[in-house]
Amino acid sequence: MAETYDAVIVGGGHNGLTCGAYLARAGLKTPVLERRPVIGGAAVSEEIVRGFIFSVFSYVMSLLHPKAIRELELKAHGFAVLPASDLFCPLPDGNHVVLSDSVERTQASFARFSRRDAEVFPAFNRYLGETTNVVRRLLLETPIDPSGRGWRHFRRNAEFLWRYRTVGDRFYRTVDLMTMSADAYLSRWFESEVVKAVLAYYSGIGTFAGPRTPGSAYVIMHHLMGEHAGAGGWGFIPGGMGTISKAIARSGETHGMAVRTDAEVASIDVAGGRVTGVTTGDGATIRASVVASNASCKVTFLKLVPEAALPADFVRDVRNYRTFSTAFKVNIACERLPAYRAFEAATCGFPYPSYTHIGPTIDYLKKAFQDAREGWWSKDPFVTPVTPTVVDTTIVPPGKHVVHLFGGHAPYALRNATWENERDRFAADVLKKMDEYAPGFTSGIVGMQVLAPKPAASCMRIAPLIALPSASSKVAASILPAARAL
Ligand SMILES: Cc1cc2nc3c(=O)[nH]c(=O)nc-3n(C[C@H](O)[C@H](O)[C@H](O)COP(=O)(O)OP(=O)(O)OC[C@H]3O[C@@H](n4cnc5c(N)ncnc54)[C@H](O)[C@@H]3O)c2cc1C
Repeated sequence: MAETYDAVIVGGGHNGLTCGAYLARAGLKTPVLERRPVIGGAAVSEEIVRGFIFSVFSYVMSLLHPKAIRELELKAHGFAVLPASDLFCPLPDGNHVVLSDSVERTQASFARFSRRDAEVFPAFNRYLGETTNVVRRLLLETPIDPSGRGWRHFRRNAEFLWRYRTVGDRFYRTVDLMTMSADAYLSRWFESEVVKAVLAYYSGIGTFAGPRTPGSAYVIMHHLMGEHAGAGGWGFIPGGMGTISKAIARSGETHGMAVRTDAEVASIDVAGGRVTGVTTGDGATIRASVVASNASCKVTFLKLVPEAALPADFVRDVRNYRTFSTAFKVNIACERLPAYRAFEAATCGFPYPSYTHIGPTIDYLKKAFQDAREGWWSKDPFVTPVTPTVVDTTIVPPGKHVVHLFGGHAPYALRNATWENERDRFAADVLKKMDEYAPGFTSGIVGMQVLAPKPAASCMRIAPLIALPSASSKVAASILPAARAL
């Protein structure tokens, strides 16, 4: 007999879990069905190399909303943040620049390249912060439909406009961010290419855009809008990013939410124009009058909901919605931390850079984008090495380290080649870049997991990435079988 619930959540990523936890708190009987053996989606901690816990996909936290942290009481369920206070950006000539959560420290660093840029930074920071506050508020709004007719729409739109009546010219600042390129936006404030690159770096993260692509200015703000301590609001999570997902799950479970893993949803069932529940991969039916899907919109509306139940133009829009990615991730288990040529604790004012951006100029960032547009990975990728084990030793054997390399751009589909065939050459190029900035780093690698863009987006159904354990014998030997289950 079919089980019956008030609501069902498809997918146990952190957003699915959050939705389930809120519904459970509101008294709704809600199971969360996750197809993988672990919950968390892209916010997950997994032991891929024996003894080393990787934050396999997402690796630093800033955008988890303080309202959710507070209302779901996540701190009582094991959630904590270790702020990454200083973003270190090494340059090829051995110099460096720092973006810190201290405005004064950032100014001192910028001043080594341009006194004027250092002076203007506090005003820029304030200007961006004021715009960011508007966007932060908008995140909690249900979008209005300005084209909607009728009294109900009119009232909702009028209420919305009234709530934002004091926004003033910050409205136009938001339009600037949405329409200008990162380079054009930053050039209105700064003159040094190095200083501009520190901020423009963010514009390519999670976006297939270069620093001169219209609209890329918004992505800078998106990556600086976190409301936590740390440079740009970023921090490490003890135990890795999976700790966030586990804390949300525990919060929901205390209010009756059920979490099931290895529970793939095969279809979202519809009858008479209304959802009736879901059917899982093993043929079980779960009835509920509400189904919330945490799977991507393409999976939800093109695979799970029957096409006949949806308006044809809606299906066409979803099919045409571009969701490919050009980001890569290389997760490394190693003997020692990268020793950056450009780092000196005394000059930088902090003991070690746990959070680093390699992407020294606007032209460098632009080339990484252009290379991928030509159908191949950039030989000069921008790379974000993060070393959580500087602050969290619980995820590694004593004295060892985890280094996550997030970067771009690598095309979703390679020109006349496949990722399966090219993965080792790709990984070698990324590691070469690391050795350029931190000589000898790669000789201390004991295990590695390479995640590259892949057309089918099949491994996680969350993002177009695939786990490609390295073929290097030393490294492949230490990859756990679990990694292959990805
Ligand atoms: C490589 C990478 C690095 C990133 N780095 C960061 C970072 O450092 N900081 C940051 O804030 N963000 C980062 N992000 C983005 C962030 O991780 C995602 O935006 C976020 O995890 C999305 O969460 P979600 O819950 O909405 O979806 P997802 O994490 O995509 O979760 C969806 C879940 O649904 C499940 N699912 C799919 N189909 C089904 C089905 N049919 N039945 C049952 N379950 C199903 C999936 O298995 C998955 O668990 C990164 C993303 C990637 C890919």
